Amino acid sequence: MKPNPKYQAYIDRLKKIADLGFAEAVLSWDQQTYLPKNGSQFRGQQMATLKTLAHEYFVDPKFGTLLKELAEEASLTEDQRINVKLTLKDYTRKQKYPQSFVEEQATVCAQAFGAWQEARGKNRFDTYRPFLEKIVDLKKRETQLVGYERHPYEALMEDYEPGLTVKKVDEVFAGIRSNLFPFFKELSKKPKPRHDFLTRQFPKDKQWAFSERSIGQIGYDFNAGRADFAPHPFCTTFGPGDTRITIRYNEHHFSQMFFAAVHEAGHALYEQGIPLAQEYGTPIGQAVSLAFHESQSRFWENNIARSQAYWKGNFGALKHEFPQNFADVTTDEFYRGINIVEPSFIRVEADELSYHAHIYIRYLVEKTLIEGQIKVEDLPAFWNDRYEEYLGIRPKTDAEGCLQDVHWSYGAFGYFPTYSLGSFYAAQLFAKMKSSFENLDKDIETGNFAPVLQWLRENVHKYGRKYNSSELLKRATGEELNVEHFMNYAKKKYGGVYGL
Ligand code: ZN
Repeated sequence: MKPNPKYQAYIDRLKKIADLGFAEAVLSWDQQTYLPKNGSQFRGQQMATLKTLAHEYFVDPKFGTLLKELAEEASLTEDQRINVKLTLKDYTRKQKYPQSFVEEQATVCAQAFGAWQEARGKNRFDTYRPFLEKIVDLKKRETQLVGYERHPYEALMEDYEPGLTVKKVDEVFAGIRSNLFPFFKELSKKPKPRHDFLTRQFPKDKQWAFSERSIGQIGYDFNAGRADFAPHPFCTTFGPGDTRITIRYNEHHFSQMFFAAVHEAGHALYEQGIPLAQEYGTPIGQAVSLAFHESQSRFWENNIARSQAYWKGNFGALKHEFPQNFADVTTDEFYRGINIVEPSFIRVEADELSYHAHIYIRYLVEKTLIEGQIKVEDLPAFWNDRYEEYLGIRPKTDAEGCLQDVHWSYGAFGYFPTYSLGSFYAAQLFAKMKSSFENLDKDIETGNFAPVLQWLRENVHKYGRKYNSSELLKRATGEELNVEHFMNYAKKKYGGVYGL
C-alpha cells in the first residue's frame, strides 16, 4: 500500500531531525572519549549548531500545520496515528517555550555549571547559591509556561516521565519510607560481610576481558555497538545498528568496571530492541521514558548480575581470570561482599537499598523549592536534616551534601524520581518474569539469557513510545506500579545476604 503523502512528508521531516540528533550524539560521544584537548574549543559550537537546526526543523509552523492535518486523517494505521499524536504533543509542548526563555536558560545553565564545579571543588555553597536561585526561578517560570493541572512539579517531571504525578510519587515513597528505610537501617547494624577481596589488584585488561564476555553473554551485540573508555560510563545511540557504551576502570576495585558495564549494557540492550530502523525518528522508534530506560539497566545490573544464581554460574570464570585474588574466597562470600548495605553520603556510591533515600531527599528538595516552601539559602540545612532523619548520618560539608550532583546546575529538575522508579519497575518486571518462567534462577545460573532478553524485547522494547510507561508496565506485568515487588525482592535477597 502506498503511504499517505502527508504521512510520508511527516516521516521525511522526522528523518532529518533524527539525522541531526544522531550526528550530534556522535560529536558528543567523541568529546567524552577521544577528542584531543585543543579540539574542544569548537566542539561545543558544532554541537549547538546541530541542536539548533534540529529544533528549528521541529518547531517550524509548517510542520505544526502538517501535524494538525494528519491528526484528522482517517486513513492512517493505528501505529501511524499514535506516532502523529505523540509528535503533536511534543510539538505543542515545545511551542510553549519562547525563544527568549530558551536562550536565557542556556546562558544561566552554562554559568551555573561552571559555578557548581568551582563551588563543589572549594566546598563553598554560598558562591553557587545565586546561580541556583536563578535556576529555581527559571524552573518556576517554566511550570507557568508549560502549565499543569495539579502540581507545578508535574510540569517538570513531564519532560522525563510523561504522565507521572506527584500523588503517585508521594504514594510510592510513603511505602518506601515506612518499609525500606527501617530495613536498611537494621541491616547496617549487622556485622558487615567480608569484602576485602574486592579491592585487590585487578589489571584493567583482565577486568575488561571478563566484562566483555559477560555483557556479550547477556546479549549485547558487538556488531551493533562497541565499548570505549570514558571518565563517566554512559550509553549512546547513533542510529540503527550502532548503540555504544563507555566504561571506566579502577585497578584497585573490581566493582567499578564490571557493574557499570552491565548497567550500560542494559541500557544498550533496550536501545538495540527498539524498532529504530523501521520507525526511524518516530516516537515508536524511541524509548518510552527515562524511568523505563533505567529499569532496563538496573534489571541487568541488580536483579541479574548481583544475584546469587548469577554468581553460582559465573564465579568460576571470574576466579579463572583472577586466580590469586579469589583463591581464598567462596562463591557465597563473593555474593555477600558485592551486596553490602551501608548508608553513605554520596548517591552514586550508594548501595541498592539506601540509594532510594538519596533520591527521596532530592525529590523533596525539588518539590518544596518549586512550591516555594523553602528558599535556596535553606537548602544545606534542609538537606542535612533529611540525611540525618532518613539515613542516620549528617554530612559534614556541602561537598558531601547538597553540592554533589550535577543535575540542578544544568536545569534538570524532575529527573531524580526516575532513578528510583527504574529500580521499582525492574523489580516488578523481574517478579513477573519469575512467575512466568519455569525456572528463572536456573536460566540465570546456566547463562541461558536468550529467553530473558526475548521476554524484555517482546513485552517492553519493541513498543518504543507506543504506550506510556504506566500502560506499558501494566501490559507487561498485569498491574500498575506496585512497590511491594521491590520490597519483597529487597527483603528476600538482603535477608539472605545478612542471614536474618
Ligand atoms: Zn542508567
